[in-house]
Amino acid sequence: MINTSTCVYGVIGYPIEHSLSPVLHNWFMSNYKLNAVYVAFNVHPSELKNAIKGGSALGVIGLNVTIPHKEALLGLVDEKDRDVKLVGAINTLELNAGKIQAHVTDPYGFTESLGQRKYWFKNAEVLLLGAGGAAKSVVYALEKLDVKKIWIYNRSAQRLRAFLDFCHNALTVSKVQAIDRKQLNDIAFDCKIIINTTSAGMYPHTGESLLRSDVFHDAHFVYDLVYNPEKTKLLLDAEHKGATIQNGIDMLIFQGLESLRIWTKQPLRLEAPKLKKIRHILQSRL
Ligand code: NDP
Repeated sequence: MINTSTCVYGVIGYPIEHSLSPVLHNWFMSNYKLNAVYVAFNVHPSELKNAIKGGSALGVIGLNVTIPHKEALLGLVDEKDRDVKLVGAINTLELNAGKIQAHVTDPYGFTESLGQRKYWFKNAEVLLLGAGGAAKSVVYALEKLDVKKIWIYNRSAQRLRAFLDFCHNALTVSKVQAIDRKQLNDIAFDCKIIINTTSAGMYPHTGESLLRSDVFHDAHFVYDLVYNPEKTKLLLDAEHKGATIQNGIDMLIFQGLESLRIWTKQPLRLEAPKLKKIRHILQSRL
């Protein structure tokens, strides 16, 4: 029951209507028996500073941050953890006695979502599709997973160049190499692991995929950060050729869980049956 001790958490974004975070976190609150609520705040970019100061003054304990505020907040916080400094993006704020601390839990969410499959990455060659914000977190995670090589394709060459600069200079990851459209399908065939971090294939553009359907085979592991639809065209094509596939729903769950651990300072665990349950709930809300 909500009372004067109830802790308030939330997510800020613009727009925010389609966020699954309130469903996810309120399920966590109930599952871990926390006296807390989690709400969505539609915060216009011009109100960002006021919103976090106001939240802090009201005693809001933690906020998740989504598009378009992940980078805009970098100049508005008091402290950034190491991962934020490296990745250059924020998805979690701790509002603590007037001090605003920033974290990013997407790299953790990606790695944790792999489960035992994370051992497939050591010394592997990986094809990464996309060079946006999510790709930064994934490259950072791939470096920690000790991959051998990361081939990167992006539709816009200019963004790809900026992304390579970021990998080399900010992340100090040198094993990345840019490829163009002509090389894409051959490299996709040769790489055992393919990760899509683009919005191609995401609802409502469900007919889109960056790869030809005949490049897949049964030695492939294909991961798509998109989770709406549950299986994108990329995943359906890969599955059809016998590849192992995974969508982004578990990444969403684990980045959220890590935010909640940061806010509560509790080592919250999510056992397999519970993971299955929340995955199902989220998928049914799409
Ligand atoms: P950004 O806007 O930062 O980057 C978008 C990327 O997608 C760019 O590389 C862009 O290429 C590319 N892209 C978009 N549309 C197309 C298209 N039709 N064809 C080819 N490339 C395209 O977004 P994010 O990196 O933050 O997010 C990307 C995706 O990842 C989203 O679908 C998002 O929902 C998902 N995501 C999932 C998470 C999870 O927890 N599962 C976490 C974070 C993100 P270009 O530079 O050419 O425009």
